Amino acid sequence: MSLYRDEGIVLRTQKLGEADRIVTLLTRRNGRVRAVAKGVRRTKSRFGARVEPFAHVDVQLHQGRSLDIVTQVETIDAFGGSVVGDYARYTAGTAMLETAERLTDVEREPAVQQYLLLVGGLRALAAGEHEPGLVLDAYLLRSLAVAGWAPTFTDCARCGAPGPHRAFSVAGGGAVCPDCRPPGSASPAPETVELLASLLSGDWSVADGSLPRHRREAAGLVAAFVQYHLERGLRSLRLVERTAPAG
Ligand SMILES: [Zn+2]
Repeated sequence: MSLYRDEGIVLRTQKLGEADRIVTLLTRRNGRVRAVAKGVRRTKSRFGARVEPFAHVDVQLHQGRSLDIVTQVETIDAFGGSVVGDYARYTAGTAMLETAERLTDVEREPAVQQYLLLVGGLRALAAGEHEPGLVLDAYLLRSLAVAGWAPTFTDCARCGAPGPHRAFSVAGGGAVCPDCRPPGSASPAPETVELLASLLSGDWSVADGSLPRHRREAAGLVAAFVQYHLERGLRSLRLVERTAPAG
């Protein structure tokens, strides 16, 4: 497999030498791949603009010893165009790219579900049909679930006692009953827990109708959940703007 073709999302680029870039891609079949795109920083480059973050590309790569070489790139979706120019979309999208990279920490390990979630999340973000913070939180909950860290929002995460329960514990895995409730558990509004469940299941009619104060509370719990599981905070999550007026 010296020459191979795949589709992927550009997660990140880094300068390399005078004119090249190292491109980090999350691909459909080959997991996370790092490859050199030669000459892309020259103005006459054939594919420079196609290998920017958020781009959904069809790419041909030559397998190298450490880094692969990008030999062809075709744009499938230029999500960057409608994401980069809008601050709320951009910060949400950046957090999604960063999370995708963190959740696929082993290079070349296929992660097709993470790939499909990211493509779907970026498509929703670019389409602008839902508030960017909701798209981000839905993506984060689902990508954590795919990674094996699905939170529970109804039955007790520890003993399985039927819910709904008032207490929510990030370390405990979600909703917790009065008997299992660890010290320091949160007590979110029932509407917030309903919003979180709708984001995980993809029930957008509930999510789109939620109030700003419940969105803010849900976002805080999702961020705490992500940070707990990834062990250190995502830099870009702190930049995500929560501009919704007080609800
Ligand atoms: Zn319990």
